[in-house]
Amino acid sequence: MSAPVAEIAVIGGSGFYSFLDDAEQHAVETPYGAPSAPVAVGTVAGRRVAFLPRHGRHHEYPPHRINYRANAWALRSLGVRQVLAPCAVGSLRPEVGPGAVVLPDQLVDRTLGRAQTFVEAGAVHVPFAEPYCDRLSAAVASVDETVRTGGTMVVIEGPRFSTRAESQHYAAQGWSLINMTGHPEAVLAREMRQCYVSIALVTDLDAGVEAGSGVSQEEVFAAFADNLGRLRGLLSDSIAVLPDPDGCTCASWADGIPLTYELPS
Ligand SMILES: [Zn+2]
Repeated sequence: MSAPVAEIAVIGGSGFYSFLDDAEQHAVETPYGAPSAPVAVGTVAGRRVAFLPRHGRHHEYPPHRINYRANAWALRSLGVRQVLAPCAVGSLRPEVGPGAVVLPDQLVDRTLGRAQTFVEAGAVHVPFAEPYCDRLSAAVASVDETVRTGGTMVVIEGPRFSTRAESQHYAAQGWSLINMTGHPEAVLAREMRQCYVSIALVTDLDAGVEAGSGVSQEEVFAAFADNLGRLRGLLSDSIAVLPDPDGCTCASWADGIPLTYELPS
């Protein structure tokens, strides 16, 4: 196996198109097509870190048109074993307002028809009861006491926002966050045997918990822009304390299982 270009990645979300200064660009081709953008690689806290803007460098790709498989494959092909995934979310809980950063511990998939697996043949059933890496989550939470942990993120197809009835339904299930990109990103990372954690920035209260007219795109982007500096700091501090990925169940689940898809090396 060739030496890794980077072992840690950040997949940036809406309004978050750069993380690394002075980065080198890697144009990666994958069996699934091109990733959202060339992957930038630079140094953070002494570690080589890859950055991929989820929606493309100019926000070309709406949530349902992102090539999630190409993104996951491209990062793995550079050697990435740990993925930090900031994303914009709506809150389904009135007590968790804009500006809160949450590390959810569960995910509900309400997307439609997205390519969500590398498995095309054979008996490969990926364990996903715990969709996020608890070791990564603990590392991120350890560097900022204002970061909230736990809760369920429901991922909708988009690109439209929820109706009020949908949002109220999700809230009634006990789910706390709503987003459009967290699936299949998390499960594809698991299939690539990578540790993965969603770092959810609350940009708005969703329609079900808001008395007004519901969320707007301007609101989401403005909230993300307001918190960019803070997110960058959180990511840098987290990267400095990430645990060794060796031995994590995010990778070891596949020990002894003949995978029917290619893991890039
Ligand atoms: Zn892990």
